[in-house]
Amino acid sequence: MFIAKDIGKKYVSAAGEKWALRHVGFVLPDRGLVAIRGESGSGKSTLLNILASLERPSEGSVFFNGIDLGRMGERNSADLRNERFGFLFQHFNLLEGQTALYNVMLPLLIRGAKSGEAKKKANALFSRFKMEALASKKAGVLSGGEKQRVALMRSLIGEPLALFADEPTGALDKKNESLVMEALSKIGGSRLVVLVSHNERLIARYGDRVLTLADGCLKADTGSAFLAKTPQASPKAKRSHSGRWKKALLKADFGKNAGKNLLSFVSETIGFTSVLLSLSFVYGSQNSLKKEKRKSLLYYQCSLSEKYAYAIPGSPLKLTKSERPDREKANDIFAEMPSVSIENDYSFFLPSYSSFCVDGETHDPVSINPVFDITLDELGREMVVAGRPSPSNDFSTCVVNEELANLFSFSIVGRTITLAHEVSLAAYGANEDLTFAYSFRVAGVVKEFSFLNAPRIYYSYPAARSFFRRFPLPEISEASGRELSVDDLVDEALGDEAYARYSFLCFAHSDADADGLRRVQDRLEADGSSCQIANAVYEVEKGFSSLRSAIDDSMIPFLVIEGLAVIFIIGAIAYSTVIMSRKESAILRSLGAHSSEVASIYDSECLFVSLSASVFALAFFPVLERIINPFLEAKTGMENLLSLSCGVVFGIPFLVVFALVFLAVALTFLGVWFPLLAAKRLPIAESLRDE
Ligand code: ADP
Ligand code: MG
Repeated sequence: MFIAKDIGKKYVSAAGEKWALRHVGFVLPDRGLVAIRGESGSGKSTLLNILASLERPSEGSVFFNGIDLGRMGERNSADLRNERFGFLFQHFNLLEGQTALYNVMLPLLIRGAKSGEAKKKANALFSRFKMEALASKKAGVLSGGEKQRVALMRSLIGEPLALFADEPTGALDKKNESLVMEALSKIGGSRLVVLVSHNERLIARYGDRVLTLADGCLKADTGSAFLAKTPQASPKAKRSHSGRWKKALLKADFGKNAGKNLLSFVSETIGFTSVLLSLSFVYGSQNSLKKEKRKSLLYYQCSLSEKYAYAIPGSPLKLTKSERPDREKANDIFAEMPSVSIENDYSFFLPSYSSFCVDGETHDPVSINPVFDITLDELGREMVVAGRPSPSNDFSTCVVNEELANLFSFSIVGRTITLAHEVSLAAYGANEDLTFAYSFRVAGVVKEFSFLNAPRIYYSYPAARSFFRRFPLPEISEASGRELSVDDLVDEALGDEAYARYSFLCFAHSDADADGLRRVQDRLEADGSSCQIANAVYEVEKGFSSLRSAIDDSMIPFLVIEGLAVIFIIGAIAYSTVIMSRKESAILRSLGAHSSEVASIYDSECLFVSLSASVFALAFFPVLERIINPFLEAKTGMENLLSLSCGVVFGIPFLVVFALVFLAVALTFLGVWFPLLAAKRLPIAESLRDE
């Protein structure tokens, strides 16, 4: 059955090279009890392991029924062990956490047998060895003798052609020793039993043939007691890889590794949470910026002008002139937003930037801007932090922003702000300039998005418009010899362009239209139109959004590091699982489980832990957001800086949730990859040796 041709085995360790076997050759029949004797360290176990395909020779070849064991793939030799070989070890190598019955059934289960069928065969063995009472006990609680009998049943259930026993009675008392030896001897009547022992008495009594090893060399061989039959290849049993047998092991592993799994769960939850934090910051800060910029009254206003370039003959320079476009052109530009009001720009009577007086004291210049409606009914109601903007638009009240209110140690609400502004009338043919002075009562204070704002005074544009329309200009009237109103100046552009204003003022009346202003601006810019839209918030935002994308980009290293941390946490856990399960894994492989099947047990364990950690991290994250966001808001003034969208993204519901679970699985696979690769490389024989 076996032909060993000049085999040698070399171990390389820190201590140097060591030949455990050298030039060993023999032929073994298909039945009988062949004993291998020799002193401790003479190479007996090594020889047995090589015959049993648990190890490969460094030199020479071993043939089993004509098949070269050294040339078999890992899977095929696992199948061979499962279907043709049985094993007995000095220290039994049972799965101690499993029942005796499961241990005995295991080789058949690995083979893919139905559990009922395996149970029937196992029970038959239990009654044959009169062990029925112990079948349901955990292997770990049995006595040494009982364990070895369970191991013997396990080695027999698959009806092997050869049974390998390495010092099977070394740990047993006399009574159990003879029990096991009698059984082996009986088995030797119909199969090959290879027995390693240094017990001369047993060898003399039971050995049909004795090989003697000394220092790795075959010193003596008593020859075959049986005539070898012609090797016959027995039909290969079909393996189905149902994998159901792994369930019991997985469950037991979970129990055994509960502490480790709990710690992994916690550390992975922390790892995933840090990934979620980064993602939710990227997402949330984008959203809150979007929301915050609406908290500026300037967001709803823009000016529309048209630029002309005039070539100067004989000069490389060009003159550019801004003008108000035709009303029709303006209407066309805002055609898609009928609610946008397009207004003649009367604001030139009020400075856009000026010093101002409160209580007779002059203060540094600030911005002065029109808003469409300082009652702030629609858009800015929630922005009002003090006072109450007038219920109707009147030109005698204004609102100021917090930045301006903060310039004063007292409350500005109810105080009077006086502006004085010189309007030059030289262009209109007048000799003197006109000083236009006006006073406002502060009706309210608004809180705007602070990143974007300087101190500002807002007045009502419609109120200003009706005021100026009724405002005749004596100086110009005199100069032109006609009684002129502001309307005349602005709308009719008296005489020539000199009186035409530069632009239209456009006001949005909804968030959607305010966003629309930006789209229109982008479109005009992209089309290379001569018309252009200016919006103060948009300009600031442009600068801000490049800062934002810089922040987003700098989150990438965070995410990468966090991802790596998760991978390595999972890797460390998987590695410790592998190391802790070294013995169990070697036992399963000696029984013929493929290394990938064994690996998948630990895979599933790691996967389960990290999936639950990721799901837990996701489920807990909204709570975390609710805890952290108020802190961030107190610091930055921005609401919901952290916000993870669990809703529809790119039109796909729960996209983020799915993506994160997928990420968890991917990170887990990356994490367990190398440890499991290492597990596959662990030599079986080494892990099984009975030191
Ligand atoms: P026996 O079973 O006869 O006691 P072994 O076959 O276990 O002997 O070992 C034979 C020799 O090979 C011993 O000297 C042992 O130290 C050495 N050996 C066995 N396994 C290894 C290994 N994995 N690495 C290095 N040396 C080993
Ligand atoms: Mg040994």
